[in-house]
Amino acid sequence: MKSFPPYRIQVVKEIPITTRAERAEALSAAAYNMFDVPAAKVTIDLLTDSGTGAVSAAQEAAAAAADRSYAGSDSYYRFRQVVDELTSYPHVFPVHQGRAAERVLFSTVLRAGQISLSNTHFDTTRANVELLGCEARDLPCAEARDLDSAEPFKGNIDLDTLEATLSGPDGQRVGQVLITITNNGGGGQPVSMANLHAVRELCQRYQVPFFLDAARFAENAWLVTEREPGYRHLSPREVAQQAFALADGCVASLKKDGISPMGAFIGLRDPDLAKRSEVNLIATEGFRTYGGMASHDLERVAQGLREVLEPDYLRSRAAETAHLAQLVNAAGVDIVQPAGIHALYLNAGRLLPHIPPSGFPGHALACQLYLEGGIRCAELGSLYLGTFDAEHNLLQPAPFELVRLAIPRRTYTLAHLEYVADVLADIAKNPERVPSYRVVHAPPLLRHFNLKLAQIPA
Ligand SMILES: *Cc1c(COP(=O)(O)O)cnc(C)c1O
Repeated sequence: MKSFPPYRIQVVKEIPITTRAERAEALSAAAYNMFDVPAAKVTIDLLTDSGTGAVSAAQEAAAAAADRSYAGSDSYYRFRQVVDELTSYPHVFPVHQGRAAERVLFSTVLRAGQISLSNTHFDTTRANVELLGCEARDLPCAEARDLDSAEPFKGNIDLDTLEATLSGPDGQRVGQVLITITNNGGGGQPVSMANLHAVRELCQRYQVPFFLDAARFAENAWLVTEREPGYRHLSPREVAQQAFALADGCVASLKKDGISPMGAFIGLRDPDLAKRSEVNLIATEGFRTYGGMASHDLERVAQGLREVLEPDYLRSRAAETAHLAQLVNAAGVDIVQPAGIHALYLNAGRLLPHIPPSGFPGHALACQLYLEGGIRCAELGSLYLGTFDAEHNLLQPAPFELVRLAIPRRTYTLAHLEYVADVLADIAKNPERVPSYRVVHAPPLLRHFNLKLAQIPA
């Protein structure tokens, strides 16, 4: 039986339809930086699944009834009840978005010179670690290096390297272990419960705090029920509860699996850490019962956290991504296998062999999808992860040249996704006409948001 979304569309928003000339003009005016293209010039926006999901009537009804009291509002208690049912962390602080959670928690936990270990740090997560004078070290599992293999849990951290690091000369400097579920920087791949159990055991043995970056905790839980022996009979809610229970705390952006435009939270067990985080929170984000969130967003998040764990919703969302993956593969474009849920990661390096890493094949494909179809997406290749010299020449390329098609929750229909696959198939018919790019301006931190590039005609 085909799965289908457990909702119907009740409010819609028009999407812009543009001409190729308008898109060429918009892209060149943005110096080929997708973040500088106005949304009014984008037809299908797959730049991110963050804060871009459609809200439900129930979320909007709750938002309308929000209580704006400064301290101890009803909205806070409703939010707390939902988070408490899910996480069992005694200390929970709302914050306005995930990176604020990172800043508040990391600046409380880490001291300059320490190391943060992760399966893969997300970009803002890495920046928040580095801004504290610490090192963000990624230890992805070996299976992640083979983009084509169908291994079920390529988001795992490499346990041998983790143990070797904790027991080796750098062990004393490790300030935290942070596991990102699902692994957004690592192809959107899930992390197994077995891996989380092993990380917990190692962190206890070496006395290092273990946190989750839980932005996509529900999607990770769904993939665990689908792929991990011993978890098939559990609900996604039960798997998520078990995952949270294994860690000492979490940071969680709620713009993803909270299905909300804004929001995040910090969860903690340690009372001393919670006290110190709270001081930081009140000074920089807001009082502990709203933490920089408007009451209506606390309500949207509380309701969103209920809806996101509905098996019918997760099943249909996973099926939607799988459908797009099939069409993309049929068009002759390879993706990071196996497809996850929130995004497809296209292997641009393989599709555009005439463009060397220094010509940024991932970025070239992203620009082409925009030029040909008004589709916006993000490069995850040498532009994002490579190292550059002072003249912006590529010194060290990224291991892979990928493009991420992020799929906003409940926002596009299968017809929209089929259109994306059609545009991609057209490009794949004549890939050699896709031009390469060079960097003309690049700031040192969070480079990809502020790049300027020029096109090198094919
Ligand atoms: C989005 C994201 C963050 C940051 O959250 P924001 O709400 O965008 O600040 C952190 N980690 C991961 C894995 C994310 O996907």
